[in-house]
Amino acid sequence: MRTPLVIGNWKMNGTVAEARVLATAVRDGLKRPKGTEVVLCPPFTALAAVSEIVTGSPIGLGAQNCHAEPSGAHTGEIAPPMLVELGCRLVLLGHSERRKEMGESDEQVNRKVVGALAHGLTPVLCVGESGEERRQGLTFTTVEGQLRAGLAGLDAAAITRTVLAYEPVWAIGTGLNATPAQAAEVHGYLRGLLSELASKEIAQTVRIVYGGSVKADNVDALMAEGEIDGALVGGASLNAPGFIAIVRKAARGAASRGE
Ligand code: PEP
Repeated sequence: MRTPLVIGNWKMNGTVAEARVLATAVRDGLKRPKGTEVVLCPPFTALAAVSEIVTGSPIGLGAQNCHAEPSGAHTGEIAPPMLVELGCRLVLLGHSERRKEMGESDEQVNRKVVGALAHGLTPVLCVGESGEERRQGLTFTTVEGQLRAGLAGLDAAAITRTVLAYEPVWAIGTGLNATPAQAAEVHGYLRGLLSELASKEIAQTVRIVYGGSVKADNVDALMAEGEIDGALVGGASLNAPGFIAIVRKAARGAASRGE
């Protein structure tokens, strides 16, 4: 059984003081997140402060992006070893907001995936179609292109160290979530591609989380789908009680699947 993973993506929100309050509330509310891995991704400026708060607790730390290179003349960028030094174990890569706003290409995302793995970080490769692509019946074409390009050159051993996030762009921050059936259909498709790129056995071990307006009141239905291994939560992760409820429900949902 794949351990469910719930990631809080705080995006560009919060002062360091606010991040401390939020991280402390999540840590204290989730002293023993049963059978679920929980990772907080604060803004870069709050990583050190949140690291102090979650170190020694079951809550993990992640970043929202990184550069592909370990150091160098890349003004304004953050390298994978810098994240490792702060205690990060995971990094989001290819988030649709970065693809859209920063023009990140599949090739850049692939270089970042390789760079993150080289330093022991778990890359969370985000893929997802726009509303227009879904309307045109291009959902599978889009996510397949992003997955193949994002994992290009990785051998089976490297693929086992990745996490995928299916995030339909039309569902991010919009309050519109994919139905559990729509999400599960894409997750199943992605898992099929992983079987081809690595092996059937490896594909069964890679976690594929869903992101797009996940909240405490829709996570149960999403987690009832055996293909959904957790959630990448944006807006709702900024509220500690709401995020804690999502984690508890995700854990219960995954546990009841194993019964
Ligand atoms: C996200 O940050 O990846 C996300 C899915 O955001 P939201 O939950 O706000 O839709």
